[in-house]
Amino acid sequence: MLVGCLQGKNIIDMFTIGVSLAVAAIPEGLPIVVTVTLALGVMRMVKKRAIVKKLPIVETLGCCNVICSDKTGTLTKNEMTVTQIFTSDGQHAEVTGVGYNRFGDVMSNGDVIHGLCNLSLSKIVEAGCVCNDAEIRNNTLMGKPTEGALIALSMKMGLEGLRHDYIRRAEYPFSSEQKWMAVKCVHRKQQDKPEICFMKGAYEQVIRYCTMYNSKGLILPLTPQQRELYHQEKAYMGSAGLRVLALASGPELGQLTFLGLVGMIDPPRTGVKEAVSSLIGSGVAIKMITGDSQETAVAIANRLGLYSKGSQSVSGEEVDTLDIQQLSHIVPKVAVFYRASPRHKLKIIKSLQNIGSVVAMTGDGVNDAVALKAADIGVAMGQTGTDVCKEAADMILVEDDFQTIMSAIEEGKGIYNNIKNFVRFQLSTSIAALTLISLATLMNFPNPLNAMQILWINIIMDGPPAQSLGVEPVDKDIIQKPPRNVKDSILTKGLIVKILMSSIIIVCGTLFVFWRELRDNDITPRDTTMTFTCFVFFDMFNALSSRSQTKSVLEIGLCSNKTFCCAVLGSIMGQLLVIYFPPLQKVFQTESLSIKDLLFLMVLTSSVCIVSEVLKKIERCRDGIQKDSSSSSFLDV
Ligand code: ATP
Repeated sequence: MLVGCLQGKNIIDMFTIGVSLAVAAIPEGLPIVVTVTLALGVMRMVKKRAIVKKLPIVETLGCCNVICSDKTGTLTKNEMTVTQIFTSDGQHAEVTGVGYNRFGDVMSNGDVIHGLCNLSLSKIVEAGCVCNDAEIRNNTLMGKPTEGALIALSMKMGLEGLRHDYIRRAEYPFSSEQKWMAVKCVHRKQQDKPEICFMKGAYEQVIRYCTMYNSKGLILPLTPQQRELYHQEKAYMGSAGLRVLALASGPELGQLTFLGLVGMIDPPRTGVKEAVSSLIGSGVAIKMITGDSQETAVAIANRLGLYSKGSQSVSGEEVDTLDIQQLSHIVPKVAVFYRASPRHKLKIIKSLQNIGSVVAMTGDGVNDAVALKAADIGVAMGQTGTDVCKEAADMILVEDDFQTIMSAIEEGKGIYNNIKNFVRFQLSTSIAALTLISLATLMNFPNPLNAMQILWINIIMDGPPAQSLGVEPVDKDIIQKPPRNVKDSILTKGLIVKILMSSIIIVCGTLFVFWRELRDNDITPRDTTMTFTCFVFFDMFNALSSRSQTKSVLEIGLCSNKTFCCAVLGSIMGQLLVIYFPPLQKVFQTESLSIKDLLFLMVLTSSVCIVSEVLKKIERCRDGIQKDSSSSSFLDV
């Protein structure tokens, strides 16, 4: 406006142009696109069974580079079945059948064991079903899967009635911190006799309360050799990936008789292995945090591909002894935290955040709430999670499935890309519009666009074609891309170059058309109509090439974003109306153009898309060469 006034142009005209340019230059569509894109992403995530409670978390998901996941129920199905039994007098038994029902047998040395025919086995089964709060009705479990597996075992042996022989007088409930459960009971028919305790839990915990062991009905003192034997058996069952529970009974908690061990399988969830491998491949580290023993945790981690050569496993006890700095040193190598409880999670998060990681942490219990709040992305379990942890979380997995976290990360990366594409489109158009008018004014040309035309361009720039860039379908390859560095600016060097390049092409092309029309030294409505249509067509091609930063339009599919196609077609129709519909011609001061003119403009303006596509190709070739050379130098090493 200032330059125009100095040149002696009409001050009112320059003011109108100045105001309309200012309106065009402000990217008022950006907050709308960001919110709408995030909201649409949240809606897509709901379909994938993830509920996001806070919009900005969707974007944080794209930066997440560490996932700390519970094992039971998230990585595994939490469908427990007892498959092995080891009695305190050294007998092994195998259990067949799956699910919470009576179908299956307990076999020892090739014989089917039923009822009370094997005293050592029946003692284990008795303790397992009396010290238990679960119930199986019509093959449906009510209660915890670990306990349900023990009830199913008693049903297979025909001993489920044993639990009704006792009246419970007291209970020490299970907690993830203490890792055992015990009950004090009296026999229904001998209520005057002393109380009897039954205990089940993690081997290391139960054995601490035992002084004796059962040998075919005889109660003998527990020797170091016996302890060693049980320890080895527990490690053997654990290394087969089984959850191991020890069982004991006796008159007092400190004077229990060790009865034996049961091992239960909990199969990995389908698809988790593939999700783990894609995430690790893209540079996201996965850490398993479990209350189970080292052998069980490492065996499952190995099976899922998240524990490799050079990985470490650290116990909850060790976490207690280390401070955050010390833990930060070792945490990158740790893949498994075993015998861990919710209180360790906070320390693990802090140590990871200390080394700059962006952490997603899963949780289900009340005690997990603090860790979920502290994590960058707190993830609560929808089915097993408590209301407290759901309240504290940023995201809820409806089906407790680990795979959902991968889909959410994918969506997060896609949404960020879409916002980036929008920024690229909008900035290049804004810069082009500003530069075009400023250059024309500096060169003392008449104004190439009038105020109404600038505002129309602004509608396109912020309106449907721009907004539809936000709903571009997520690129399937996006999950392989490494997590974004939180400190990285949205405007990277590469993006700025692309924005400037598109702007320069648009400005040069539009000025060329304007200059070509001005050759008769007379400014007519036709001249501005040509310039205006040229700019609008440039905008459409620019939007087309902004749909992806790396892939060509043909690769992503010309019509794969239906909203975009409709928006562009709508804008072109609008532009044609502005040129050919007499009432609008009056408003926009335009004139009808010939088919030849339109064809010429189409060919010229497609240049912005062609150059951008060529640049993408060059970039991809360069990245490919760099990747090849880095992998060959890695092999050389
Ligand atoms: P994850 O963190 O992977 O989900 P988890 O939270 O299921 O594991 P816990 O429930 O804390 O782990 O179980 C830890 C250990 O406590 C198990 O290895 C098992 O030995 C024992 N345990 C589990 N459930 C019970 C129970 N209901 N009664 C007694 N002991 C149990």
